[in-house]
Parts: sequence; C-alpha cells; structure tokens
Amino acid sequence: MPKPSGAPGGFKVIDWAGFTGAVSYTFDDSNSSQIQHYNELNALGVPFTFYLQTGKNESNDPVWQKALTDGHELGNHTKSHSSNDDGSDTDAATRFIEEKFGIKVWTMAAPNGSSTYTGIARTRFLINRGVANALIAPNDSTDPFTLPCYIPPTGASTAAFDEQVTTARSAKRWRTVLVHGFTGGSDGAFQPVQLSAFVDHVKHAKDLGDMWLDSVVNVGAYWRGQKAVTSGTKTESGGETTYKWQLPDNFPPGKYVRVTVTGGTLKQNGVAIPWDPHGYYEVALDPESVTLSP
Ligand SMILES: [Zn+2]
Repeated sequence: MPKPSGAPGGFKVIDWAGFTGAVSYTFDDSNSSQIQHYNELNALGVPFTFYLQTGKNESNDPVWQKALTDGHELGNHTKSHSSNDDGSDTDAATRFIEEKFGIKVWTMAAPNGSSTYTGIARTRFLINRGVANALIAPNDSTDPFTLPCYIPPTGASTAAFDEQVTTARSAKRWRTVLVHGFTGGSDGAFQPVQLSAFVDHVKHAKDLGDMWLDSVVNVGAYWRGQKAVTSGTKTESGGETTYKWQLPDNFPPGKYVRVTVTGGTLKQNGVAIPWDPHGYYEVALDPESVTLSP
C-alpha cells in the first residue's frame, strides 16, 4: 500500500496488528502428554503459551527450555495448583521460572479458574487467563485479570475447535484456547483431546490466512497497548499533534502497535517512523508518545 499522502490526521491503531482476529493456544499443568508431543506441536509453527505448574516434576523437563528457544511463552500456573493463595504460591512459580530460564514472566493462568488469582495477578502480571469462554474485542472492557478462554470437551473434534476460531474471525475478536493434554497420556490431563484433532484444527486456522495466531503475551500486549494508546491524550501545538499514553503496570518492553493516518509524518523521539508498505506505521509503545506533523 502507498504511504498516506492526505492531510495529517486520522490517527488510528489498527485492530489485531492488521489481522482479522486473533487466537492464542495455551497448555496448562506441565502435563506429560504435552511434553511427549512437543515436537508435533512445535512443528505447527505457531507460538504457544505453556502455563507451568512448577511444583510438578515435569516442570524440570528440558523440553521447556527448548520451547522458549523455539519462541513459545512460558507462563505461571502457580507451584501447587491450589484454589487459594495469598500470593506466595504464585510467587514461588515465578521464582522457579525466572531462575531456571532467566526470563521474566508476563502472564499467568489461574488454577481451577479460581477468582483468588484476579487480585493476585493485578499487581504482578500483564494478564491472568481464567476459564470461562467469551470473545475479546479491541478496546473492550474485558478484565485482563480474568481473561476468558475456551476449554474443549474430552475428545473434541477438529470441527469443534474450528468453530471457535471461525466465530472469532467473523466477530473480528480474540479467542484464547486451553488444552490440558492429549488422549493416551498417563498424566490424568483434564478433558484430553486427540492430538490429530488439535493438529488438524491448527492447520485449518493457519490456512484461513488472516488470523493472528500467537502467544498470550504477544496478543495481550497488543490488545492492552492499543487500549492504552486509544484512551490516551491528544494535544496540538505549532501545527503538530502529540499523542500520549500510559502503559499498564507489568507491561513487557519492546512492544509495538500498528497505526494508520490520512497523511503527515509520525515521529518518536524526533525520528520519523518509516511507512511499512503492508499498510501501517509501527509505533513503539515504550516511549508513551508519538507526534504527527505535516
Ligand atoms: Zn491447571
């Protein structure tokens, strides 16, 4: 697409980075059937989120370091998987992951969907995934600390998974999906599904071509970043318009949103942002400011 050459204005963050909608696939409980089938999952080429229950021995498996290197997200599913916590069990899991892998933990998933974790996550994380199914819209009021998700029934068909994605696509929204494990495992995974049903589904979702399939931290940072920019302030001075925003607490550094304008030059820290011919400017979130000038 050509660079917009009209009058400066029309500043707008585009939804889902320019995709029609988004899907995040999450795996809870460090289950052995996830480890066993890691290579087939990784071969799909989609960044997943693995929520580790760090008190389980499976969380010591070398597969998780490989998952990290392969571009997947490792998140917090607490140490003990209790429905009650004063924060210490959550923090123990964070310490485990941060010390073992040398990373920062940005998102968690509430064990048993317990509402206890809504308050715990609010002071520690970007997002806490819950267990009730709903779609998430750009700039909506969904609570990031009880983020909805779809849990497939035992032995769910490919079609059942597909429907969750096609409805997200037609609504232009974000769906998160939680798979506990795969049929045939010995780990007692909650409502396991056939590996082939899941794999075939993800291939279908990729084939749609316009859905953003990415980890919770990546889609979540875009969703919360867009909301921060959209609800920020706009001031005009000397023919320039400056947009300012405030990022939420516990926000990962180095994230961007994609922005369109009708014309003009966008600058951050005095440097013009290059136009991406795919149809947008990539605006860094960390500076919490961008200027549009003629
Ligand atoms: Zn769990």
